[in-house]
Amino acid sequence: MNRVVVHYHEIALKRGNRPAFVNQLVDNIGRALRGTGVKRIRALAGRIVVNLTPHADWPEISRRLQRVFGIANFALSWRAERDIDAITATVLEAIDGRQFSSFAVRAKRADKGFHIPSPEIGRLVGSAVVERSHAKVDLRNPELTINVEVVQREAFVGLGRVAGPGGLPVGASGTVLALLSGGIDSPVAAWRMMRRGCQVAFVHFHGAPYQDRTSRDKVMELAQLLTPYQLDSRLYLVAFGEIQRQIVTQVARPFRVVLYRRMMMRIAEALAASTETRALALVTGESLGQVASQTLSNLTVTEEAVSIPVLRPLIGMDKAEITAQAQQIGSFEISIQPDQDCCQLFIPRHPATRSTVPEIHAAEQALDIPALVRQGLESVTVSTFASPAIRATAASEQTKAPATC
Ligand code: ATP
Ligand code: MG
Repeated sequence: MNRVVVHYHEIALKRGNRPAFVNQLVDNIGRALRGTGVKRIRALAGRIVVNLTPHADWPEISRRLQRVFGIANFALSWRAERDIDAITATVLEAIDGRQFSSFAVRAKRADKGFHIPSPEIGRLVGSAVVERSHAKVDLRNPELTINVEVVQREAFVGLGRVAGPGGLPVGASGTVLALLSGGIDSPVAAWRMMRRGCQVAFVHFHGAPYQDRTSRDKVMELAQLLTPYQLDSRLYLVAFGEIQRQIVTQVARPFRVVLYRRMMMRIAEALAASTETRALALVTGESLGQVASQTLSNLTVTEEAVSIPVLRPLIGMDKAEITAQAQQIGSFEISIQPDQDCCQLFIPRHPATRSTVPEIHAAEQALDIPALVRQGLESVTVSTFASPAIRATAASEQTKAPATC
């Protein structure tokens, strides 16, 4: 073992922008694998090769690469000279000491200048493996898959491919700010945006001083869970209880939920513009029609409060689909813990399912919106999270507002 060969899929379909995506992926792999025994990472035609030190920690490397978006699959690999005898000898070295009763050799020439066609490489290598191991060839359901890839100046032998998470490398699509509520939906929405190549910052609105810490603790746990996918995260916590109380004293009951949402959007927009975040869009976990605040008219009214784009990656998913994804990510168990959700604070039993922009503008006349936004921003605390790869210190909580917002 001395290499990992990483394959990507979606990036390979890009044309002009492909080098930028590949560079981002190389960078992310390097950061994710810090401290595991990596010597060098290089991009070759259609694949990325990670050179390892003799004491590299393969189980840990495999665990971390499974969270690097942009990777289609990867395999523990050995380098060989571009020569069929050298390739065969390397395969025999790679399988030395392994127990398996059936196998398949999958050969691929990325460089068609190599004189032996792929099926013939498979046949030649396969018969040497049969002779050495006495295992059966099983092309359909092999216990061990041996991949042989011939590239321009060398060849690689890989054993047992591991699936990566797919998608695009984090950072390739810019930064977004996700509104994280502590419910089931918003962590899934944030994860899906990471998978589309976004670095995701988080903001959570909590009911202090009228509610306890439970929603904050949950969101901290969710941010920690999501961080290995993007290596470092920033979470803004906004005290929203007092702002809600002021809305409640000034505005008729049915509109309160929509007004809360519009205030959240405005504060989030200001945080998105801060120099330390520079997010290009907001992200929510809304799904059309799921609850009263998520009717098409309420979504429109909510969004009208800001000029930054609002992305809703779950808009067409139903609760069962979102729940299944939350379980797969591991956020479900955290999300279902009971908490005090600020959206439940001072809300009417029957919130308006259909509000209109003029109606809401009229209701907001009673409020000093810039002052409420300022109040929210002054309450902000920032927590930062780092995955083990780049963790210098444990997650730290600072009590200061972000710069220039
Ligand atoms: P979730 O499961 O994400 O809580 P939900 O189905 O409970 O969503 P709502 O409570 O209506 O729906 O919230 C819709 C979206 O608004 C959330 O997905 C989230 O993006 C945002 N949001 C709601 N409450 C908060 C909050 N307290 N802090 C941050 N974002 C919030
Ligand atoms: Mg919620």
